[in-house]
Amino acid sequence: RGGLERHSYDVVVIGAGGAGLRAAIAAHDAGARTAIVCKSLLGKAHTVMAEGGIAAAMGNRWPEDNWEVHFRDTMRGGKMLNNWRMAQLHAQEAPERVQELEDWGALFDRTEDGLISQRDFGGHRYARLAHVGDRTGLEMIRTLQQRAVALGIDVFMECTVTELLKEGGSISGAFGYWRETGRFVVFDAPSVVLATGGIGKSFKVTSNSWEYTGDGHALALRAGASLINMEFVQFHPTGMVWPPSVKGLLVTESVRGDGGILKNSEGKRFMFDYIPEFFKAETADTEEEADRWYDDKKNNRRPPELLPRDEVARAINSEIKAGRGTPHGGIYLDIASRRSPEYIRKRLPSMYHQFKELADVDITQEPMEIGPTCHYVMGGVEVDADTELSGVTGLYAVGECSGGMHGSNRLGGNSLSDLLVFGRRAGEAAASYAEGLGGQRPSVSEDDVKAAEQAALAPFESEGGENPYSIQQDLQQSMNDLVGIIRTGQELSRSLEEIEAFKGRAGKLSVEGHRQYNPGWHLALDLRNMLLVSECIAKAALAREESRGGHTRDDFPMTSDSWGTKNLVLRLNAAGDGVDLAEQPLPVMPEDLQTYFESK
Ligand code: FAD
Repeated sequence: RGGLERHSYDVVVIGAGGAGLRAAIAAHDAGARTAIVCKSLLGKAHTVMAEGGIAAAMGNRWPEDNWEVHFRDTMRGGKMLNNWRMAQLHAQEAPERVQELEDWGALFDRTEDGLISQRDFGGHRYARLAHVGDRTGLEMIRTLQQRAVALGIDVFMECTVTELLKEGGSISGAFGYWRETGRFVVFDAPSVVLATGGIGKSFKVTSNSWEYTGDGHALALRAGASLINMEFVQFHPTGMVWPPSVKGLLVTESVRGDGGILKNSEGKRFMFDYIPEFFKAETADTEEEADRWYDDKKNNRRPPELLPRDEVARAINSEIKAGRGTPHGGIYLDIASRRSPEYIRKRLPSMYHQFKELADVDITQEPMEIGPTCHYVMGGVEVDADTELSGVTGLYAVGECSGGMHGSNRLGGNSLSDLLVFGRRAGEAAASYAEGLGGQRPSVSEDDVKAAEQAALAPFESEGGENPYSIQQDLQQSMNDLVGIIRTGQELSRSLEEIEAFKGRAGKLSVEGHRQYNPGWHLALDLRNMLLVSECIAKAALAREESRGGHTRDDFPMTSDSWGTKNLVLRLNAAGDGVDLAEQPLPVMPEDLQTYFESK
């Protein structure tokens, strides 16, 4: 096997978004020989697309803000299904992580007093999102990347990991291929940190890019780890609906945070009709109060446009279904009639350009047309809250590919802070475990490498089969239609049948050409992951007979107390060709934290 490229590290981080970069920096700082592997170019991860900001209770705008309020908002936003310990650590440590980013050179927008500016977002009681215009993710990635490179961390770009390798129950490394040459590469490492992001590409309308095929979720499952919260997919209320080529592209929540309102085709500001009981006490019920809130937050309640995302997305969906949508099947998002052109261009420069260039709409003059888009997966690898260790020794998961932190619905801004808080923790834990092993490391078996090679080459073996693009398209349409924003038992059962059929078709697909840069082959490999993850979502969605957060069942419209005490856990089945589902009680919140939810 002389020709196989091989590298040896203490910690290999798969993914170069915020989570992966922060984990790699922490592992390196803890003394581990660390590498980052990513399937696109460094700097092209999803994190770079994040617009609104990083949620952290720094108290720069509101001295009343503190980790306890942030913790409470996060748990309530997730409808109490969050792993309480993760929500606690996240709220406690986020301010320090943001401060550290600034120390490393990030240039945040400022308050009049020269502090890091913080903006309003849905579900957050106080203005809490540290931001850089509407390009926060770009600044975050720039800062972390510069630091990682300056520290001398090795980066393997455009290299896709297709298998995790184990000895006994423990991780021994990872197997992948260079996208350009198609050549294989093995990483020997006792610690692997998954930081591969989300699953959005399984849906037709999504704000996510080609990279989000659920690789980390599927790699973890195949390695023996479990996933939780997979029924909870966040549909962001505001994606572009026109022109078709950009359908699903995100319109940041900051538009609403900065004064934008939602209107139907009759010109009605309809969100007042959709304030749920759970949020009534803290939401304005007249336009006058809602409008006063922007200038006087102390004495007024928040506008209903800033309810958590699941509420707003469902409301928009209902208006469109009731025939009160825009010509292109969306709803109007209007900031033009509410703020000056100068203000809009300063606060929302990317949005201004996005609409001008892609839709020929001047958002300082006319409303935008928007509709819900698949945006984020709350579900992911089940991990220990303090260390991000999965059920497999040596395997850690962090960022969007991990589960638990956001429960049934993530609040805006809580992802970027999640990446920093848990990225650091995972990197430190992974390094410490590798160090503790001394010379006794699990080793990579040659048979496993051979099997990984064969699995990767399988799409070239059969001739005359279907091409992977047609299966992908059918999967995306099916997930959109049957496992989308509003679900029913019947449709979910049908989706599981369809996924089985797609799996059958994928087992016989064939790809043309050679291993040198071959997108069809890459997709064939990604498709395995997309199918496995889609099955997880549909299976858990069918089992959860209630509506909560990102999971709405038309046939079970109420939130149920008994479902509020359990998670659904997914594991690879014995045959290795699908997943099994089980119920598991939620970790119990200690009494002192429970008191935050009693009085208010
Ligand atoms: P990513 O940043 O996506 O990184 C994933 C990495 O994994 C990439 O480097 C990719 O190449 C690599 N990878 C994947 N599979 C493989 C594989 N098989 N082999 C090797 N490498 C692999 N959140 C907020 O908190 N605030 C916001 O304002 C905000 N705005 C958003 C705007 C948009 C348009 C989108 C799409 C999301 C937004 N989010 C926001 C969510 C947030 O950006 C993401 O949840 C977060 O960036 C995910 O980070 P990550 O590090 O987990 O993954």
